[in-house]
Amino acid sequence: MVITKEEAKKIKKHLLGQLENFPEERRLEIKNQINSMTNEEIEIFIEKNNLTHLGGKCIFCSIVAGKTNSYKIASDSKNIAILELNPLSKGHSLIVPKEHLEKMPDYSNQLAQEVAVKLKDKFNPQEIKLNEIEIMGHAILEIIPIYGNESERKQATEEELKEIQKELKKIKEIEIKKKTDDKPIEKKESIPILPPRIP
Ligand SMILES: [Zn+2]
Repeated sequence: MVITKEEAKKIKKHLLGQLENFPEERRLEIKNQINSMTNEEIEIFIEKNNLTHLGGKCIFCSIVAGKTNSYKIASDSKNIAILELNPLSKGHSLIVPKEHLEKMPDYSNQLAQEVAVKLKDKFNPQEIKLNEIEIMGHAILEIIPIYGNESERKQATEEELKEIQKELKKIKEIEIKKKTDDKPIEKKESIPILPPRIP
């Protein structure tokens, strides 16, 4: 990765914006240090500190690369599906093509349908809305279950996201189990017949 002059400028600006987090007596020293950094030094600095989303780097490319944490609920060879961190409703998900594209590609449709069906099965919304957006030049498809009481986006807690992630993963396991268990279900255990109770 080689950062451009523009990116270096943006990153410097961002770092200078963080100055107030440092003790006052050190601010001038740190400010001078930031200003005197070469592009190479900045590059090393942001890599070392895992700040690659700064300076116009795409957050979704970072998620796809596994450098930024996300709550993954499904994937195929060309896309991942993750939970929205500021959902409008329970199960609000994002289909993220692994490629950085400005328009959603057709090849994302299958995973989108799969996730939509899962959400419908699990959370029983009135309907599911699909909404194409673009963040930092990366096209994303939002999958939003609508229950009829949506008002505004709210930041989800880690517990909520983990719980939804678990529930959605459970479906897959049950489906797979059902399929592989199709025959064995035939096996009828002899149920003991209880004598009718005499009141
Ligand atoms: Zn991207």
